[in-house]
Amino acid sequence: MEKGVVLTSATFPRARAGERMHALAAELFPICRSITGNGVRATLRELGKRIPLELHEVASGTQVLDWTIPEEWNIEDAYIATSEGRRVVDFRASNLHVVGYSEPMRAKMTLAELRPFLHTHPHNPAWIPYRTSYYSRTWGFCLSDHQLSSFGEGPFEVVIDSTLEPGSLTYGELLLAGEKDTEVLLSTHICHPSLANDNLSGIVLLAELAATLADAPRRLSYRFLFIPGTIGSIAWLARNEQLTPRIAAGLVVACVGDAGPITYKRSRRGDALVDRAGAHVVAHAENGRIIDFVPWGWDERQFNSPGFDLPVGGLTRSFEGEFPEYHSSADNVELIHAERLEESLRAALAIVDVLEHDRVHVNLLPKGEPQLGKRGLYRGLGGADPGTQQLALLWVLNQSDGMRSLLEIADRSGIAFTDLADAARDLVEAGLLAQHEWPSQ
Ligand code: ZN
Repeated sequence: MEKGVVLTSATFPRARAGERMHALAAELFPICRSITGNGVRATLRELGKRIPLELHEVASGTQVLDWTIPEEWNIEDAYIATSEGRRVVDFRASNLHVVGYSEPMRAKMTLAELRPFLHTHPHNPAWIPYRTSYYSRTWGFCLSDHQLSSFGEGPFEVVIDSTLEPGSLTYGELLLAGEKDTEVLLSTHICHPSLANDNLSGIVLLAELAATLADAPRRLSYRFLFIPGTIGSIAWLARNEQLTPRIAAGLVVACVGDAGPITYKRSRRGDALVDRAGAHVVAHAENGRIIDFVPWGWDERQFNSPGFDLPVGGLTRSFEGEFPEYHSSADNVELIHAERLEESLRAALAIVDVLEHDRVHVNLLPKGEPQLGKRGLYRGLGGADPGTQQLALLWVLNQSDGMRSLLEIADRSGIAFTDLADAARDLVEAGLLAQHEWPSQ
């Protein structure tokens, strides 16, 4: 009988994980991030104090798949001021006030001249919208309708103290090696300025997940990517194509701090192990849902492009467009909650647990039920109540014919995967079950 390394079947969050994630989001919130520039570097350096993140720089002008790394954007200050010097729009008050990637600008303009470069929120007059223009050169300001309605006719002093110069795109990467080279890819975008649910929630969740898994026994290897949206995943794929056959599963994590349901978005394949793990975890969540793959959303679009077709799903709560505060100044640290972040972390860890522990077993005493009582197997274990624990033992014994994996047994029985994995571990230790093989990996 193959014994292997005995792993616990569930990985739990570290103490006060939710509070820690929320505090880190609040700390990173003021930084002005974009797809390139010093804000991204400052964010990654802050994460680097918590997890051993490696920073990569890809030079402007580098061809990556069908794209080109753009010039690096940095900004010191920006404002619209009256002729008396009073700032009526001030980058220092909110970095959302400047359209991301705005060209440098210094001019005197009337309101009529300025108006085409001003953007307000379409639905809420109190909110500042979030706008960017990465790939076509322009400039602009975002402000609330309330602010705009207080403007006179001008003239105004308009200043954007930014630079757009050859530099580089920065991303962070961390590989936690396991017993096997088979990898789980965990990715989040890092390119939004002061916005909390999209995307600081994903950043802090992946940082906490990395810190948690760094201290856990690992059969699989885990590769964490903190990358600017779209261009970052395209750059990573262009530079690491040789690694992609190792990727057996993956998750793109975003918008995981709000009150929406725990959501698993299927990969393009739809039936990969991570898809079945995600569906199982969502089915056992108090408030969960599964949605099918669509070539929209975040970096799962690139990982699931047909030339790569990686089994990478998505973990979110509310999607873009599902919460009114999306891409506005109302997506602030009050919109995200420590408890919601921790719930989302638990869902990610539960998916990881399935990836780590799903395997096929063989019942060594398949004729009639083995007598469990005399082997001391009716203990309350693994958090399961005695009824569930007993039923889990019987399901594992009944279904372990060398064909069905624990996840398939979980789906058929309606019992949580971790309870079945605990039962299987106990049955292996009691000599009633043999570990057979790892499916799909
Ligand atoms: Zn976004």
